Amino acid sequence: MNIPSPLQKLESDLLTEKQIDLWVKRDDLIHPAISGNKWRKLKWNIEKAKDNKKTTLLTFGGAFSNHIAAAAHACQENGLKSIGIIRGEKVEPLNSTLRKAEENGMQLHFVSRKDYKLKKNDDFILGLRNQFGNFHAVPEGGANYYGVMGCMEITKELDFEPDYLVTSAGTGTTASGLLMTAKQEQKVMVFSGLKDGGFLEKDIKHLINYTTYNEDDTAEVLRHLVLKTDYHFGGFAKITPELIQFVNVFHQQFQIPLDLIYTSKLFYGLFDGIRKNHFPPKTKIVALHTGGLQGNLGFDKQLKKLGLTLNY
Ligand SMILES: *Cc1c(COP(=O)(O)O)cnc(C)c1O
Repeated sequence: MNIPSPLQKLESDLLTEKQIDLWVKRDDLIHPAISGNKWRKLKWNIEKAKDNKKTTLLTFGGAFSNHIAAAAHACQENGLKSIGIIRGEKVEPLNSTLRKAEENGMQLHFVSRKDYKLKKNDDFILGLRNQFGNFHAVPEGGANYYGVMGCMEITKELDFEPDYLVTSAGTGTTASGLLMTAKQEQKVMVFSGLKDGGFLEKDIKHLINYTTYNEDDTAEVLRHLVLKTDYHFGGFAKITPELIQFVNVFHQQFQIPLDLIYTSKLFYGLFDGIRKNHFPPKTKIVALHTGGLQGNLGFDKQLKKLGLTLNY
């Protein structure tokens, strides 16, 4: 385990020209299997499950979910049983994410897309409790109070105060942790990995309300948020030749591999903003590499269809 996660300064002609100081906080290097922000979000959930003498953790995710992969591994390491409620019908043979989750002892339980939508519904959870017994439930993507708590530890590992903290977002849990700990003038720039990412503001507000329990305090926290919704490349897990070209050049230039769902789109958007002078000279930026590289295995078919390859 690699905590605090390494901070890597990027050097390039563009950054020199625009006088931007850019560091990548390499949460992708925290753990080889419990990747990036999933490690952060699971940390206190696992603690809590053990503390409450629960022997099982139950959670939710899609078939290539980084969270499912991470949860299975984290439970295995911590001597907890794990159950994954997976969206959609079972497809055999299992893909690499689900196969590894199963190898790590996760019991997979497939539910229809229609039922999966009920995952936050009390009756649905009660049904699961009747079926699986007393478990610690973690929402999809680790999006709960303990998830936010874990992500509040990220900024504490920095020994300076950047002007911008930057992250990608799915549920907005990571962004919420950064926002909760942002200092006076700091901005937290959040890139949506999903289309129509405007919903994130509401979801982040909801997550922050768990912690502040006070509308005024929540509004004060949200003041730091800069939400970017235009870099989804067609939607969640959609890729284009331009994006693949970008990640290949990025890897060549900085020796940092990016995932194709989240971090690739963040860094594309961030560099686009730098090129377009959205940041004044001398701006200090820390961008979070939230990991997720195991998810790239799910793109083999799409890449082949487009005639593209990743160079890492
Ligand atoms: C899950 C994931 C995210 C989304 O994080 P949220 O806290 O749900 O917003 C971002 N990046 C990567 C690489 C992920 O795996």
